[in-house]
Amino acid sequence: MNTPALRTTGLSGGYGRFDVLHGIDLEVQPGEAVALLGPNGAGKTTALRALLNLVSHRRGTVEVNGTDITSYPTHRIARGLIGLVPEGRRLFLDQTVEDNLRLGGLHLRRDRRRVDALMHEVFALFPVVERYRSRPASALSGGEQQMVAIGRMMMSDPAVMLLDEPSLGLAPLAIDAMAAGLAALREAGRSILLVEQRVDLALQVCDRIYVLSGGRIVEEDVAASVGGEGRALIDAYLG
Ligand code: ATP
Repeated sequence: MNTPALRTTGLSGGYGRFDVLHGIDLEVQPGEAVALLGPNGAGKTTALRALLNLVSHRRGTVEVNGTDITSYPTHRIARGLIGLVPEGRRLFLDQTVEDNLRLGGLHLRRDRRRVDALMHEVFALFPVVERYRSRPASALSGGEQQMVAIGRMMMSDPAVMLLDEPSLGLAPLAIDAMAAGLAALREAGRSILLVEQRVDLALQVCDRIYVLSGGRIVEEDVAASVGGEGRALIDAYLG
């Protein structure tokens, strides 16, 4: 049995004294892309935030590559352990594309060769990001900005990549380009946890799926084995 890239055991927590997550057990194996699906308010974003120690209280454990990081502060987790592409991208719009990327790799800035190699990796995956590297991020379309946001996360060279609804608000062609980028990341052996509302996209780019409802995992499937009945069940959970 491989050591998972990411494993949570009994992860609970939320905001104030209110629990949103109730004992989440999930795993992402090295090189595996896993989707976390669920209806609005199920706790998907909260689960990603809890992995980064960004919710106000938390119980359970989080391990990355077999190391227990439960007590690590967010800034330590963000340095090469877990990378997040947040919902809405949160780019620095008045900064250039290249500066946005460099901000993702800030903790590596003394290792110029590594930063350059990571930037090459981003450019290879998303040529449009290289083409527009000198433009302010605000000049790019939503789909292009999403690629920059994914690139910025890649620049921190994380062991596990989290993406929160990267398809949200994008035009169909931009969603296709983003899906191709995610598939390429998976091909490159990255370990990915993807929060998605679009079940088709999740089944297309992921190896496995979890369905979260009411802060609990209610369903777990191998993506390739989800047939008509499985799909109907997932759709019912998503409402
Ligand atoms: P969506 O698809 O709508 O983004 P989600 O599955 O990501 O939904 P969360 O955003 O994690 O769900 O929200 C789960 C619950 O936590 C909701 O009831 C929401 O109102 C609550 N919640 C989210 N953020 C906060 C916050 N900062 N303070 C208090 N409650 C919050």
